[in-house]
Amino acid sequence: MSGINKQKIVDSVPQKGFFGHPKGLFTLFFTEFWERFSYYGMKAILVYYMYYSVSKGGLGIDQTTALAIVSIYGSLVYMAGIIGGWLADRVFGTSKAVFYGGILIMLGHIALAIPGSVSMFFVSMILIVIGTGLLKPNVSSVVGEMYAETDDRRDAGFSIYYMGINLGAFLSPLIVGSKLIMNTSFHIGFGIAAVGMFFGLIMFMTTKKKNLGLAGTIVKNPLSPSEKKKFSIIISLAVIVVGIILAILIPAGKFTFATLISLVGFLGIIIPTLYFIVMYRSPKTTAVERSRVLAYIPLFIAAVMFWAIQEQGSTILANYADKRTQLDFAGMSISPAWFQSLNPLFIITLAPVFAWLWVKLGKRQPTIPQKFSLGLLFSGLSFIVILLPAYLGGTNSLVNPLWLVLSYLVCVLGELCLSPVGLSASTKLAPGAFQAQMMSLWFLANAAAQALNAQMVKFYTPETEMAYFGVIGGASIILGIILLAISPKIQGFMKGVR
Ligand code: GLU
Ligand code: ASP
Repeated sequence: MSGINKQKIVDSVPQKGFFGHPKGLFTLFFTEFWERFSYYGMKAILVYYMYYSVSKGGLGIDQTTALAIVSIYGSLVYMAGIIGGWLADRVFGTSKAVFYGGILIMLGHIALAIPGSVSMFFVSMILIVIGTGLLKPNVSSVVGEMYAETDDRRDAGFSIYYMGINLGAFLSPLIVGSKLIMNTSFHIGFGIAAVGMFFGLIMFMTTKKKNLGLAGTIVKNPLSPSEKKKFSIIISLAVIVVGIILAILIPAGKFTFATLISLVGFLGIIIPTLYFIVMYRSPKTTAVERSRVLAYIPLFIAAVMFWAIQEQGSTILANYADKRTQLDFAGMSISPAWFQSLNPLFIITLAPVFAWLWVKLGKRQPTIPQKFSLGLLFSGLSFIVILLPAYLGGTNSLVNPLWLVLSYLVCVLGELCLSPVGLSASTKLAPGAFQAQMMSLWFLANAAAQALNAQMVKFYTPETEMAYFGVIGGASIILGIILLAISPKIQGFMKGVR
């Protein structure tokens, strides 16, 4: 998009009106708040819905399979962001992508809210994957569009927006995942998630005109008529070919769940690899930018390791909360799903402390690669923490819930070193011609992580619990130490980016 267009968009957004930030931040904050409310609310009960027996209102799916499905689901949600970003850039613009995405997400939750069969569950999964792929990356990129390039409120704007994400993620498990709802019917919980997304859509539609001006309305790089024709043919052919392959393989019993896990694992690794190759080899990438792409590779690998542990907070640790934890504690009867509120709660309370700390340390603060390595050390430590109860007391008795609280807390310390820094480092290290794609690439780290998780969950059983946490936590710590050792080198490759 040309500089003139960019400025025209900025000028069309009322520049004050939400904590000293552009008024549009209000719209985006609450749209994303409600979207994350619905996503994390659903996710807090999803795994239980899958493996609880039919008599307890669940689907009665085998536990390991259920944990793998949640990981595949999470991986596909972030992978679909590439399609969402492409459609917004080339077909209908970010604002429409957010709207269509919201509708699909809401329909997905409605499909889960209607008591039905396993097939209904898969229909809902597809709707939510495509819907979130359309909404999530695009709503974040509109945040960036509202600020002029030289506006130094941009980082603070993203921090406020990040609070919106985590506020939604904090509140919904408390409501959707309450015992009252889980014991009555999971479908009511999914219904609440649908209502949440409905509120988000209403918020977006009623305030966008006034608050967002032109932001999100311009298709940045529209398809030419000949490209339109070419892509329609390619996409139709691809759909037909995949349809035929599946129609042959599924009835023949050749496309099993294990095939799906392997396929997602393969895509999780191959897609980011292709991204790196294309960016590195593009004639539009300058020599300095090429060096920065190289610097981004170890950071990306670290991010995959980090998200692999963080995302297990809603699979393996959710299972741990259900099966291994004393839920009658200090006179309370705790819902296992409530543990999902801990991560966002710690994020909300500690993010300002970290922001203060970095400012206070000024030039003495750790470099970007050093912060990533701290992220890995903390995430690794969070798994060592949760290994201790089995080490100290065996796996036959129930564990004090404070162990889980401590594990989530330690992981958040890592998240605050890595996640916000990763977002801004992605924009700073991106070659000029690949700014938007670099954002999708960042989300692909999470997609790759969850694709790996889908492969790993089968190694988790009560008997292997200590080894499982020990090996993964240990791997993260070792990777963190290696990263720390090579961080001056990486910093050199970053060519002045700090
Ligand atoms: N918890 C973050 C969110 O929902 C994860 C996104 C990421 O991978 O950066 O926005
Ligand atoms: N901290 C996560 C993200 O930033 C939310 C969660 O895992 O609940 O949004």
